[in-house]
Amino acid sequence: MIKKHLKTNRSFTITKKAAWLVVPLVAAGGLYYPLLGLAVIGIMLAMMVLGLFKGKYWCGNICPHGSLFDFVLMRLSIFKKIPVLFRSPLLKWFFFAFFMSMFSYRLGLALGFLGETEFTTRLGAVFVNQYLVLPTIGGVILALAINPRTWCTFCPMGTLQKIMNKLGKQLNINRHTEEFITIADQESCSECGKCARVCPMQLEPYQSWDDDQFRDESCIKCYTCINNCPSELLYSTTSSDRKFSREGSKKQEPGNKATKVA
Ligand code: SF4
Ligand code: SF4
Repeated sequence: MIKKHLKTNRSFTITKKAAWLVVPLVAAGGLYYPLLGLAVIGIMLAMMVLGLFKGKYWCGNICPHGSLFDFVLMRLSIFKKIPVLFRSPLLKWFFFAFFMSMFSYRLGLALGFLGETEFTTRLGAVFVNQYLVLPTIGGVILALAINPRTWCTFCPMGTLQKIMNKLGKQLNINRHTEEFITIADQESCSECGKCARVCPMQLEPYQSWDDDQFRDESCIKCYTCINNCPSELLYSTTSSDRKFSREGSKKQEPGNKATKVA
């Protein structure tokens, strides 16, 4: 059981540093200029395609809300343990159903204006309200009062990515594209627990290796654990590459693969 989660060095790429700017631009700006909300259609499509091939990679590396929570709000957060309730499948699916029902209802109202000049404005307003305003207000409150990534444990867009990822697995199209946190040598792990203490989603990779890989679908592939393992044992790779290297078809020294990720 992890006792203390750490506000630690996260490796912030340019995207992770800057993506949060989309939130005030579209969420607040969209209230005055709803057409900005149409940008969310592209965001949602990109998120779904990435979910299909790379799991929740979007959440850890590109998501504007994720960037807001990690890069802007982490230093202001109380940084407590995320309550188990937020991880419950019941809450996650209830919230997903609620969110999608509201979305469908509002979309239906906007579609009633199809062919009229105000249609695009109304459509933009649906995305502004549904995708940006609620996650922004709810996410910011939870980030400050509990932990930066609290919202992400039940975010409907995260659930949507999990659905897409399961679809990708059913179609067997993401074996070569989805990477997992992988341990080079379990015997060398001191079980110091640092990979768990620094994880923004408060997951525990070192407790859950599955064929040397951490396959928890809540992992947002942020690489924070890789960059903080004191023994440099962690790296990111696909299941197929892992299998390939294990079978010795590829010449790889496992210790050499534990590279830091920006
Ligand atoms: S941080 Fe590294 S050494 Fe520590 S428990 Fe995790 S994998 Fe093992
Ligand atoms: S397990 Fe590692 S990559 Fe996954 S969310 Fe936690 S820190 Fe990020």
